[in-house]
Parts: sequence; C-alpha cells; structure tokens
Amino acid sequence: MDCTQEGPVSRGMNTRTPVIELRQITKSFGSFTAVHTIDLVIGEGEFFTIVGPSGSGKTTVLRMLAGLETPTSGDILLRGKRINDVPANRRPTCMVFQSLALFPHRTVGENIEFPLKIRDVSKADRKARALQLMEQLRLPADYYGKNVTKCSGGERQRVALARALAYNPDILFFDEPLSAIDYKLRKTLEKELKDIHRETGKTFIYITHSLEEAMVMSDRIGVMRQGRLVQVGTPNEIYTAPNSKFVSEFIGDVNIIPVAINGTGKLHSAELGAEFTSPPIPAGFRSGHLVVRPESIRIVERSDSAENRLSGRLYNEYALGSRIQYQVRVGEQVFIVERLRQQAFQGGIDSEVQIGWNARDSILVGD
Ligand code: ATP
Repeated sequence: MDCTQEGPVSRGMNTRTPVIELRQITKSFGSFTAVHTIDLVIGEGEFFTIVGPSGSGKTTVLRMLAGLETPTSGDILLRGKRINDVPANRRPTCMVFQSLALFPHRTVGENIEFPLKIRDVSKADRKARALQLMEQLRLPADYYGKNVTKCSGGERQRVALARALAYNPDILFFDEPLSAIDYKLRKTLEKELKDIHRETGKTFIYITHSLEEAMVMSDRIGVMRQGRLVQVGTPNEIYTAPNSKFVSEFIGDVNIIPVAINGTGKLHSAELGAEFTSPPIPAGFRSGHLVVRPESIRIVERSDSAENRLSGRLYNEYALGSRIQYQVRVGEQVFIVERLRQQAFQGGIDSEVQIGWNARDSILVGD
C-alpha cells in the first residue's frame, strides 16, 4: 500500500482516497449512549483531529477505530473492508501512540526497537532503524542508551512517536499526547508533529480537548459534543464558519449576541436594544446568535465606517504579547476587542467608547 500518496487538499468534505469510514456508528455502555450515529470519512494521508470537551466521546471513537471497543451498531471500514470485529492486534495498519505506554527502566533504543524485535529484525538493522528514527525526531544519537525515565516529558513523547513509527503503520492514532506538557514545549511539539506528518505521508488521527492545538496541526477537524459529531471542516472553516454557538465558543474568546428577527425583518438584540446589519439571514431563521470574533470588532474612531456600532465603557485591558485585549461593557454584556500592541487604544479604563464591526465580519448561528 502506498501510504505516501496524497489527493487534493480536502475542504469540509474529504476529497482524498478514503482510508477509514465510520457509517452510522453508535456505542452504548449499558443504557448510556456515549457515541451517537457518527458518519465520517477520513482520507489517506490526512491529519484528522477529533476535538471536544471532556466526556464528549472522543476516546470512545478512537478506541473503536483502534479495535479496543466494538461499536454497538454501525460499521467501521478500513479501505472498504468492514473491521468492526477485528481486534486491535489484528489491525496491522493501526496503533495507538501514548508516551505513558513506554517501557520504563528500558533505554530509548530498546523502546524504539521493540516493534522490530518482535518481528525478528536483526540487532544491527534494529539499531540502524532506531538511530534513523531518532534523527528524524530530533533526539540526539547518544540518547540511544539512555534510560527513558531520565528523559524529559517532551523527549519521552518523541521516543513514543519513534516507537510508533517503527511499527511502520499506515495510520497512527494519537490520544491527547501533549496534554500533560507545558505550553511552550507543546507549541514546539505541535509543529514538529505536523512536520513529521508531512514527511511520512501517513494518516494521523488525533484527539484533543484543545481546538487551538487542533487548528495548528490538522487538515480537518471534527468537533464532538455529547457523543455527536456536530461539525467537520478545515481549521479555516471551523474558525470562520462555525455552525453553532457551541462550536464558535469552543475556539476561545468570542463575542456572542443573542438575536432575533423583529417585526421589520431586521436582526435585533432585545438585551442591547439595538438593530444590526447582518450577514445573509438563512431562510427560516427566527432567533439565534450573532458571533463576532475579538479581532473583527474594534474601538471605532470618528472616521470609522463600521456598519454596526454600540456605545459602552472600557472596563478592563490585558496585554497578550503582540496584542492587547480590551473588555468593553455595553449594558449587561462585556465585549472582547483586540488590537495590535502598536495600535493600542490611548483612552484609559472607564473611557466612554464606541465599538463597531462590519456585517461581513460577523456570523449568524443557531444554538
Ligand atoms: P475525555 O476528554 O475526558 O477523555 P472523551 O471525550 O474522550 O473525554 P469518552 O472517554 O469517550 O469521552 O467518554 C464518553 C462518555 O462515555 C463519558 O460519559 C464516559 O463516562 C462514558 N464511558 C466511556 N467509557 C465507558 C465505559 N467503559 N463504561 C461506561 N461508560 C463509559
């Protein structure tokens, strides 16, 4: 199987050759349904991330894909063949990667070589392959004889990934591998993982709580909520066109205004006592939420031509490195506005300000 082959870059729909298909997958534990009727196609060579809050069913989906759980109903297909009942050890193309699964008190080399040893690869060939993988994963060659317990968290993640690659699977599963790692190292490892994905051309299926982490690495993201896959799309689609309040909030700071269509067919906020120029209103829309990202909303100067404006009071400000975040209170609602540091707002806390945005920079969603 040529696992380096890639199709066109996928958009919301997978446009690559399908490798894994979930058809109407449901998983129940007793009377509790953890995963509800999921349909999903993951393409060959894709970096696909399942993201969602705790308990949303991500691990259960991954465990079914890896053969560690059997679906209650529905089918899982691997390259067109039903694999529902094929156990994990008989899915040679799949494996779960987790640094916690490393053998403690063994060396880096022994850990990486394990999959090769059980396949009776000669000692010299095993070592050569281990050193090659270590180089690819930027682990110094003299770590070969180092005990894994003496490695840092980030190094252990790399050893675990090297061992997973030593199995030479077409598909790698990642179960929150970076969740216990500090922010700076996590950011580095996210980029490295993306590079390794590109270099190997393998299919990566990854789960995380963090949509931010998913955004950095993934070709596409599936967002889960209460056992359901509520949106699948590219990072750009998820960010710019969330299909619900839940997805738009999940990505971090965002302004959400409850709105309804009023008697004149305009978008109206009862709480703010304001009408808005809106993006196109979908047929049948009666009420929902207007979403405006902090970078799309601004403190307006006199000359500003913002289509929507609200008067408020500057309530707080926070330095976020290259950006400054302002909180502006309008009635009972606090809006989040961001500006580049070079364009810092000169008025102080408690200034009367106007905030504004253009209709095209807002998104209308349901609940
Ligand atoms: P987290 O991010 O916290 O790991 P998750 O999104 O991966 O959460 P799952 O671990 O898939 O969520 O769990 C989904 C739901 O199914 C949870 O309510 C969980 O308690 C339940 N669940 C998972 N495995 C079992 C099991 N073996 N028996 C009973 N309930 C289970």
